Amino acid sequence: MTALSALLVLTLMGLLLGFALGLAAKVFHVETDPLLDEVSALMPGTQCGQCGYAGCNQAAEAMVKGETPVTCCPPGGKTLAATIAGKLGISISLDSMNDELLLARVNPGLCTGCTRCYKACPTDAIVGANKQIHGVIMAACTGCGSCLAACPERCIDMVPESKALDSWHWPKPIAA
Ligand code: SF4
Ligand code: SF4
Repeated sequence: MTALSALLVLTLMGLLLGFALGLAAKVFHVETDPLLDEVSALMPGTQCGQCGYAGCNQAAEAMVKGETPVTCCPPGGKTLAATIAGKLGISISLDSMNDELLLARVNPGLCTGCTRCYKACPTDAIVGANKQIHGVIMAACTGCGSCLAACPERCIDMVPESKALDSWHWPKPIAA
């Protein structure tokens, strides 16, 4: 077989496979609910399970079906709840939601570097190595608490998110 014929055969195979894939994409295309796609796209995607569902897509589906309140996602907080309520065209009260996001912090004096929290974290927010003190990257933490349950030394605390320029806002006026 000459190089040219080999090239022709490979090109033909590539075209055929491309055509087959395109056809399969059309034949096996699953219609999805565009509203569900929009709500799913808004979710944090950490799959932390604080909402009580297996993952963010399941929670989004339940919200769209009205099976669970749009306030069920702690990492998403009030901002996410208000955005999803707007998408669903529903009015909600955010008063029941906690203003303050609690994030994980390792007590360096007690950490033994067992790496269990590091393996439990769904967002890779924990840094550390074996027998080394671990630490939490607050910006990556969603406050899911999975590390809390994993730590044998009970040396992880959930503390309020430290206020930064992008998370600070004027405190609400206290009603007279
Ligand atoms: S609470 Fe712990 S496990 Fe959850 S995201 Fe934060 S560091 Fe990771
Ligand atoms: S699980 Fe606890 S003791 Fe182990 S590394 Fe993490 S913080 Fe340290």
